[in-house]
Amino acid sequence: MSPISSAAPRERLRIAIQKSGRLAEPARALLASCGLSWREGRDRLFCHGESLPVDLLLVRDDDIPGLIAEGVCDLGIVGRNVLDETNAGREALGAAAAARELRPLGFGDCRLDIAIPDGVEWTGPTQLSGLRIATSYPGLLRRWLDGQGIDAGVVTLSGSVEIAPRLGQADAVCDLVSSGATLAANRLRPVLTLLRSEAVLAGPLRAFGDARDELAQMLQRRMDGVLKIRDSRLLMFQATRSAVPGLLALLPDAEPPTVMQVDGKDTLALQALCHGAMSWQRLEDLKLAGARGLMVLPIERTLA
Ligand code: ATP
Ligand code: ZN
Repeated sequence: MSPISSAAPRERLRIAIQKSGRLAEPARALLASCGLSWREGRDRLFCHGESLPVDLLLVRDDDIPGLIAEGVCDLGIVGRNVLDETNAGREALGAAAAARELRPLGFGDCRLDIAIPDGVEWTGPTQLSGLRIATSYPGLLRRWLDGQGIDAGVVTLSGSVEIAPRLGQADAVCDLVSSGATLAANRLRPVLTLLRSEAVLAGPLRAFGDARDELAQMLQRRMDGVLKIRDSRLLMFQATRSAVPGLLALLPDAEPPTVMQVDGKDTLALQALCHGAMSWQRLEDLKLAGARGLMVLPIERTLA
């Protein structure tokens, strides 16, 4: 790895992603579909960008906001939960945020929930007063409790938060939930959501002031394109002129269609970019409404 100085102008952009774990593969896949490719480093921590001057740093997700704050890396792909927790922790100390969210990325969905033991009745947030809540997110929990004016104890644990109530360490937990299966297996049930999270692109509070700004802009433009078409398809069909309004009513998620005349009078050919799922049922509905020769095509790439 080349020596790092956050002050000197840099020509290459460095992006931190999780080395292994839930976000590792989807983050790489997203960057690859933006046209990035890398030569794997022998140390498996640094990958030199080949197609563009954009290098990868493979790290623990918890380190990503701090690495951006220090200027060791320029951008990062990290859960909003981790980014907001880091910033909340710094805010509590009167320090500036480490990094800011540039855009959500549509994967790694989860929630930060408060959960209580199965048998306990839930009457509302004030019930938490005087209780001990175990969490790996003390910054976010403390900020939420303060905002609600609730005086509860925060028990900070780095892992296995969900067994804390059974061990008598806490009365409730504040933990990440996706399916809820882990909570249920530990006889806990979610009662409140503090944060809805997904993977986000994180970046510094200020512009770089060198070539990296243009690279970061380009990367975000490409991400826009990739994310926009993730569930999008090009729909093509023919219909008589009079059937078109009814057909378009069935396509509320479509961009304004391109309409072409086929036989000089009544038959039209339409193509429309649709952003929602194109199920068999939808095709059947369109056919019933007068669409003929329906075709659904994948989209390789778009650039606005
Ligand atoms: P690391 O070794 O990088 O610290 P980790 O154990 O903290 O890994 P993972 O369990 O891989 O991290 O989770 C990474 C991110 O995936 C979380 O911070 C969160 O944003 C997201 N995520 C999605 N669903 C869940 C879930 N059910 N539990 C935990 N994290 C989830
Ligand atoms: Zn982690």
